[in-house]
Amino acid sequence: TSAPARPRRVMLKLSGEVFGGGAVGLDLDVIGDVARQIAGAVTEGIQVAVVVGGGNFFRGAELEQAGLDRARADYMGMLGTVMNCLALQDLLEQAGLTARVQTAIEMGQVAEPYIPLKAIRHMEKGRVVVFGAGAGLPFFSTDTVSAQRALETHCDELLVGKNGVDGVYSADPKTNPDATRYDRLTYADALARGLKVVDSTAFSLAMDNNLPMRVFGMSGAGNVTAALMGETIGTLVTT
Ligand code: UDP
Repeated sequence: TSAPARPRRVMLKLSGEVFGGGAVGLDLDVIGDVARQIAGAVTEGIQVAVVVGGGNFFRGAELEQAGLDRARADYMGMLGTVMNCLALQDLLEQAGLTARVQTAIEMGQVAEPYIPLKAIRHMEKGRVVVFGAGAGLPFFSTDTVSAQRALETHCDELLVGKNGVDGVYSADPKTNPDATRYDRLTYADALARGLKVVDSTAFSLAMDNNLPMRVFGMSGAGNVTAALMGETIGTLVTT
């Protein structure tokens, strides 16, 4: 007799661009819509974790250009992600879910520390876990953290929600009218063609550890729910 199949568990990476609606700060209408879409999937029994970016507040590389020490600027970037986490937590709760934030930098009044086994337990109980403060390490990105957390919490798939594009293209569709979208792609092909799906550290971590990654467009009614549920939207990238 084999063990019963485990429910589908997925990691959703949301960039700061999603949270800001393209601007600095928070667009609560957009975040609320994402939260309701997550609720739609959790209600169907999907276990969901989210890694949140922070580019709508600060990016370390940009602050470095403006004259700050890179590591300190990166910590500012990580702190920005936590504000996005709290907004998402609130709107997930408004959507009827229970949500827990875990941060890689400890801040006990605000969030739990990152404890992978506890994160898994939350998901098993139907709670959404929102991971903030990146890896807690300068020179890393939230893309990389999404791959790492997905692996450590045994997610079946990493779902990367994009603004402006609905998958991986052969060239930049904004500037090249001949660009075509891939339904499926291997990491090796993406590398050989120089396609920037996520940053290179995230990419190699996912490739080396056989983590499937689905890149999809955030716009379009119900896209987030569809991706969480395992529908074939966007581009699937595999080893
Ligand atoms: N960051 C970092 N280490 C991490 C994750 C993030 O130093 O593990 C910093 C980095 O400065 C980055 C900023 O936090 O620019 C915001 O994260 P990211 O750029 O990944 O957010 P996104 O592009 O997804 O909005």
